[in-house]
Amino acid sequence: MQAFEATNFYFDQAAKQLDLTDNMRTLMITADRELRVEVAIELDSGQIGNFIGYRIQHDNARGPFKGGLRYHPHVDSDEARSLASLMTWKTAVVDLPFGGGKGGMNCDPNKLSRGELERLTRKFVQQIHDFIGPDKDIPAPDVGTDGQVMAWIMNEYTKYHGFHPACVTGKPVDFHGSAGREAATGYGIAIVTREMLARQQKVIRGTTFAIQGYGNVGSNTARFLHQQGGKILAVSDAYGAITNPEGIDIPALDKHVAVNRKVVGFNGGDASTNEQLLTMPVDVLIPAALGGVFDAAMAKAVQAKLVIEGANGPTWPDADAVFNAREIPVVPDILANAGGVIVSYFEWVQNLQHFRWTLEQVQREEETKLVQSFDKMYELAQRKGISMRTAAFMIGISRVGRARVLGGM
Ligand code: NAD
Repeated sequence: MQAFEATNFYFDQAAKQLDLTDNMRTLMITADRELRVEVAIELDSGQIGNFIGYRIQHDNARGPFKGGLRYHPHVDSDEARSLASLMTWKTAVVDLPFGGGKGGMNCDPNKLSRGELERLTRKFVQQIHDFIGPDKDIPAPDVGTDGQVMAWIMNEYTKYHGFHPACVTGKPVDFHGSAGREAATGYGIAIVTREMLARQQKVIRGTTFAIQGYGNVGSNTARFLHQQGGKILAVSDAYGAITNPEGIDIPALDKHVAVNRKVVGFNGGDASTNEQLLTMPVDVLIPAALGGVFDAAMAKAVQAKLVIEGANGPTWPDADAVFNAREIPVVPDILANAGGVIVSYFEWVQNLQHFRWTLEQVQREEETKLVQSFDKMYELAQRKGISMRTAAFMIGISRVGRARVLGGM
C-alpha cells in the first residue's frame, strides 16, 4: 500500500459513517491540481544538479491551499498527494479557513551547501510563483526546510508579485514571521497529550515518553513535556537513539544537538536504535519523524499505552487495526500535530493586517483552538464508539463537504 492509498483508506472509514455518495467521495479525495516541475541548478562543483519539485493542491473549498514543503530524497508525487490530502482534513478539523496542499523536492538538504539550497529554493519559486500566494496557496516548513528557506521563498515571490509576506508562513520572527511559530507544533502536541492524559485521569508530570525524531517537532515536543515534569526516556533521529531510564536531561541534550546536529554521542544516556525506541515500555510513544513507521508487526511489538502522532502518516492501516484491537488509543496526526498550521494561520492573519501578536496571545489562541478541537473529536469518538482517527476524519470531511455544497459545484 502507498501513502495516498492509506490516507484514502482512513477517509473511507469515516465516509462510510457519513453515508457519503460515490461522486462526493471522488470529488473530495481527488486533488484539484498537481504541479511537477524540473528544478535544475548549478552546484558548487560546477556540475548541474537535477531535482524534481512538487506542489499538490488538494482542496480549497474552505480557503486557500495550505501545507508544508518537504526537502527529502524520498519526496515523490504519491507522498505529496497523501500529505496534501491530510492537510485538507487537518485544517478542517481545527476549523481554519484553509484548504490542503503539500509539496517538496527530492533533494537531500544535508548534502547541499547553503548557497545550493538557496539557489534551489529560488528556482523552485520561479517555477511555481503564479500558482502560490496569500489567497491561493501558502507553503510552510516541513521535514528538511526551515525559516530560512521560507524567507528565501518570500523574497523570491516578492520579486514577481510585490510585498506579500502572507505568501508563506514559518518565516523567521525577524523577517515577518510570528512569535511562537517555530515551536508551535511541539507546543500543540504537548497540549494534546495533556488533554488525552486527563481523559485517563493522568497528568504529564511523572509520565514516561519515547519520542522518535528530534527535529523541529520532536525536540520542541520534548522540551515542553520536560518543562511540565514529563520523563523522556528515549529520543532518536536518523542517526540513532539514546535512552535513559531516569529521564533524559532535555536542556543538556539540546546543547549537545546544537553543536553536534545529532542526538547520538550525548553523554547523558545510552546508545540505542530506533527500533528499540519504538518498542520500549513507556506510557506514551510519540513518532515525530517520517511517515510509515508502524506496520502491523511493529504495532504488535509496541509496549506504550498511548500513541500521539507528531509525524504525518506514521501509521499504516494494518497497524491502526492492531492498535485498535489492542485498545491502545492513537491521537491522529490531523489533530495531534495541527498546532503548526494553527500558528501558521495566525502568522498569515498578522501578515495580512501588518500587525504583530505577542507570544502569550499566540500560545493562548493556539491552546484554545486545540482544546476545542480535541474535545469535539474525543466526544464524537466516545459517542459513536469509533477511533479518534475516524472521528477526526468525520469532522474534517463534514466541514469540507458543507463548504463544497454551499459554494456550489
Ligand atoms: P525535521 O526535518 O525538523 O526533523 C525530522 C527529524 O526526524 C530529524 O531529527 C531526523 O533526523 C529524524 N529522522 C529522519 N529519518 C528518521 C528515521 N528513519 N528514524 C528516526 N528519525 C528520523 O522535520 P519536522 O518539521 O520536525 O517534521 C517531523 C514530522 O512532523 C514530519 O512527519 C512532518 O510532516 C510533521 N509535521 C511537521 C510540522 C512542522 O511544523 N514542522 C507540522 C506538522 C507535522
